[in-house]
Amino acid sequence: MTRLPGWLRRRHSLSELHELKGVLRSHGLSTVCEEARCPNKAECFSKPTATFMILGDSCTRDCGFCSVKSAPPLPPDKDEPRRVAEAASKMGLKYVVVTSVTRDDLPDGGAGQFAETIREIKKHLPEAGVEVLTPDFGGSKDALSRVLSAEPHVFNHNVETVPRLYATVRPQADYNRSIGLLRRLKELSPETNTKSGLMLGLGESFEEVLEVFKDLRGAGCDLLTVGQYLRPTKKNLPVVEYIEPEIFKALREQALGMGFRSVASGPLVRSSMNAEEMYTGNVSV
Ligand code: SF4
Repeated sequence: MTRLPGWLRRRHSLSELHELKGVLRSHGLSTVCEEARCPNKAECFSKPTATFMILGDSCTRDCGFCSVKSAPPLPPDKDEPRRVAEAASKMGLKYVVVTSVTRDDLPDGGAGQFAETIREIKKHLPEAGVEVLTPDFGGSKDALSRVLSAEPHVFNHNVETVPRLYATVRPQADYNRSIGLLRRLKELSPETNTKSGLMLGLGESFEEVLEVFKDLRGAGCDLLTVGQYLRPTKKNLPVVEYIEPEIFKALREQALGMGFRSVASGPLVRSSMNAEEMYTGNVSV
């Protein structure tokens, strides 16, 4: 599977890319946009919007679809929350997304750093929306409460794929733990918007995807993203199938019919793409 179908090819204008990269580098920050080689980088950076990656660039897990390096991480940087907030303010962001690698090595899985980063962003940008895309914190209720205490507007945790494929796609994760996390979020904070997402093209069936939608709705999930998996490096899982845009449209209709408040479903859709539009409900894909 080498040649990308037409609907997945994008033109990049480098100017915005470099300008924003300058801001990020001057604050010693990285984005998942760059680490995960996202195809929408130029479009998002031109808005500008970006997804800040905290807690370092080494993950304690090794998911088959991800190009983030799997290695023993460094201790959390206490000054990072302030730097993220300063960079977001310098970029003039109205909506800020924060994510991280998985830190199974930390007692709270990094929840404290997420909470501090949310608070710093709210101090620097009181009007901005803040969304967190978190790991599963090993299913820890305390970790969830710690992040929720900083009151993010949207709490995102991706299930990524269907349960049958977890062993190859997310071997250190657990599907029921991820669904359980989303359910617990709603129990702990019913007013917080919860969000999740899947990548397609790894061998799942249409019916399996609908079953995941049902589980997510059963857990009270409000927002949903569905996109095409793209192989970031030769070391990652091969693409099994390039899903036609019509299938994404059909899935979107099914998901809206199940009661999701906002659904973005399309070949180039990513978890944090159009995040602000999803939060405000103005999504068209
Ligand atoms: S846990 Fe997240 S950052 Fe780590 S390998 Fe998996 S997808 Fe990548």
